[in-house]
Amino acid sequence: MTDCLFCKMVSGEIKPDTVYEDENVLAFRDISPQAPLHVLVIPKRHISTLNDLDEADAQLAGQLTLAAAKIAEQEGVAEAGYRAVMNCNAGGGQTVFHIHMHVLAGRNLTWPPG
Ligand code: 5GP
Ligand code: ZN
Repeated sequence: MTDCLFCKMVSGEIKPDTVYEDENVLAFRDISPQAPLHVLVIPKRHISTLNDLDEADAQLAGQLTLAAAKIAEQEGVAEAGYRAVMNCNAGGGQTVFHIHMHVLAGRNLTWPPG
């Protein structure tokens, strides 16, 4: 999608602070970090919201989760702990409509989230 911010990161039109990349997944630091570590993990293929995932995307959804765990290991927070979360639509706090998993760590993350 040409007018999608995260698709522009995939295409290289905008250069993110990349922390992980493979064939299907890109991960980069959030521009407005909510914790000492705040990374966004996205599929390279545009999918607007979690509601738009279908059965054919099951492997890709799993790859996002596996990438989040790899990034936590790479960034040295796997043992201490981290949060991996996806927001869906306005009520879930989604503001960028290309699905992404937030990986947050480095401070005490309380529950429930706000
Ligand atoms: P959402 O609110 O949709 O779950 O998360 C969107 C995230 O994208 C927010 O945490 C926001 O800070 C981040 N974000 C918005 N614009 C940019 C940008 O231009 N670059 C980066 N790296 N992150 C962005
Ligand atoms: Zn997109």
